[in-house]
Amino acid sequence: MPIYEYRCGKCRRLSSVFVRSARAQVAPACEHCGSTEAMARVISRVARTRSTADVVAEHGTGNPGEYRDPRQIGSWVEQRFEEYGMDVPEETRAMIDAAREGDLPKELGL
Ligand SMILES: [Zn+2]
Repeated sequence: MPIYEYRCGKCRRLSSVFVRSARAQVAPACEHCGSTEAMARVISRVARTRSTADVVAEHGTGNPGEYRDPRQIGSWVEQRFEEYGMDVPEETRAMIDAAREGDLPKELGL
């Protein structure tokens, strides 16, 4: 039985949904808020095994010009995780929050 993952359009969290067959009609409900609206199929489960390092290695750390506005720091990283259907890991979250407070990590090469 395939398991599909859906991202809730309301709370943005992922739900795993059992599907009887690939052709079955499904109306998945969010496990977290119960919403059935705007549930978007997350295509690749494999993507969830990516590490932060993999994502950065593939895409680089972005254009430093994007970081002129402190509120933009980390938004690029957040978007990458969003694309992969992943939640931003806590350590990355903490790094982004610290950067927004002006504590920029050296790895970003700023
Ligand atoms: Zn939800």
